[in-house]
Amino acid sequence: MKLHNLKDSNQIVDFATAVKTGLGNNQGLFFPAKVPQLKNIDELLAMPTSARNFAILRQFVSENIGDDALKAIIAKVFTFPSPLKSVNQQVSCLELFHGPTLAFKDFGARFMANCLQHFARTQSDGEKITILTATSGDTGAAVAHAFHGLDNIEVVILFPKGKISDLQQKMFTTLAGNIRTVAVEGDFDDCQKLVKQCFDDNELVRQVGLNSANSINVSRLFAQICYYFDALAQLPLTQRDQTVIAVPSGNFGNLCAGIIAQAMGLPIKRFIASTNLNDTVPRYLKDGVWAPNATVETLSNAMDVSKPNNWPRIEYMIQSAQFDRDSLSGLAVDEQQTATTLKDLHQQGYISEPHAAVAYQGLQDSLDDGETGIFLGTAHPAKFKSSVEEILGIKLPLPEAIADCTHKPDLSIEMEVQFESIKKILLN
Ligand SMILES: *Cc1c(COP(=O)(O)O)cnc(C)c1O
Repeated sequence: MKLHNLKDSNQIVDFATAVKTGLGNNQGLFFPAKVPQLKNIDELLAMPTSARNFAILRQFVSENIGDDALKAIIAKVFTFPSPLKSVNQQVSCLELFHGPTLAFKDFGARFMANCLQHFARTQSDGEKITILTATSGDTGAAVAHAFHGLDNIEVVILFPKGKISDLQQKMFTTLAGNIRTVAVEGDFDDCQKLVKQCFDDNELVRQVGLNSANSINVSRLFAQICYYFDALAQLPLTQRDQTVIAVPSGNFGNLCAGIIAQAMGLPIKRFIASTNLNDTVPRYLKDGVWAPNATVETLSNAMDVSKPNNWPRIEYMIQSAQFDRDSLSGLAVDEQQTATTLKDLHQQGYISEPHAAVAYQGLQDSLDDGETGIFLGTAHPAKFKSSVEEILGIKLPLPEAIADCTHKPDLSIEMEVQFESIKKILLN
């Protein structure tokens, strides 16, 4: 399958090129012109997860990755479950946080890393690869762990200084080897802007083999399609076509993957785009005006994004009539409500965290009788230990993956929001 640049219709590439280059000309995103359709969805949902993931992913990658290689990649990437945990009669949480860094970004980052490694082995032109990525929290850990120790791949991770939790930070700043981390004196949008500037510098891109592992990389998106199928596979047959999925959204990669899953034939009834106070999309869905405000800090800081970089893909799905705009609604949840919702979930016997709470509130707000609600649990509650403990008045044990890194030294360096500084770091 070919991928088109959404900003330059003349640039059409294969999957490998899209994964290796990340962004296209004019900072355009790569995307399939037409999403492939799957037949026999019920059969697909009855399959073991790895066979189903194979059937889904080969639609997108078969031109560059043979069936056996893809099976091997899938066996390496999808090593942990995504259980659907019931919260009440009508609502369940799809827990996407059972991977090595306890967040859903493990799916995309691990798939991307293993695809790149495959291309390096089979299409090797001896060139180096440098992964440059900006993180508002969980991307950093997922990318660092996914690429850590891979041959011939350097990783540089930018994050907004002081704006992510200590635990989140320790999960990617304590790895040595091929992982370098940079604390930027700005917010996440500043980090994203720096990354874009680097990709605009063709000379730099060539010199260091620059590649972004952000959610703009189409490989991450494709990996995330799989768990939407997994979600419906875990529902009783009778509920499947009444499913409403609420997605806690920041850069909107996760929601975009769900929309692709639906376009492939998965009978998701509708979606809710839940955001925190960074509500560009919910406002846009309401009044049709794209008007990003300055980014504000919230409890759900991995969603503190006011210019979501995956939105053009969703817009394209709508414009090309592959997605019905009417099956998407938005809800922005403020800080007070996030805390209240977290308590509400706790009272129902489910310990969650701020991002998933924002999504759950989307269901609370709009779920009709007869509908089945699923909200995506994007991070383990312990990743947001201090806010969860404070709001719920409980103590959370630290899972091993986090406990291991808390005692290690933070190896990050600090940097102003300056293109020249990041360039120097990359060239070093
Ligand atoms: C990244 C992240 C999100 C937002 O996902 P997008 O694909 O950027 O919309 C939500 N929750 C958590 C915990 C995250 O890390």
